[in-house]
Amino acid sequence: MLKAAVGCKDEGCKADVPVRKCKDLVGLLADFVEHQLPPGVHASLERHLAACPRCVTQLRTYQSTVALLRTIKDEDLPPELRCTLKSFLDRNCRN
Ligand SMILES: [Zn+2]
Repeated sequence: MLKAAVGCKDEGCKADVPVRKCKDLVGLLADFVEHQLPPGVHASLERHLAACPRCVTQLRTYQSTVALLRTIKDEDLPPELRCTLKSFLDRNCRN
């Protein structure tokens, strides 16, 4: 779901993604929370959030999920689940 909203992983392409629809925002939430987005995209996402309470809720849910996942120790998880969670967090699983 996260990947589907952003067609291209290249930084240059991502910068061209206008955040007008909720589905555009979903794929960028992780980078938004980590302040990894280009300034223009970050600002675009903030404008969307200012006008869209539903996405604010989604952002808060995402943040609390990330906070929860980070309290779990790696060794507590089976490798497969660890990989899934890791890819959810940084979308770059190299397990
Ligand atoms: Zn929205």
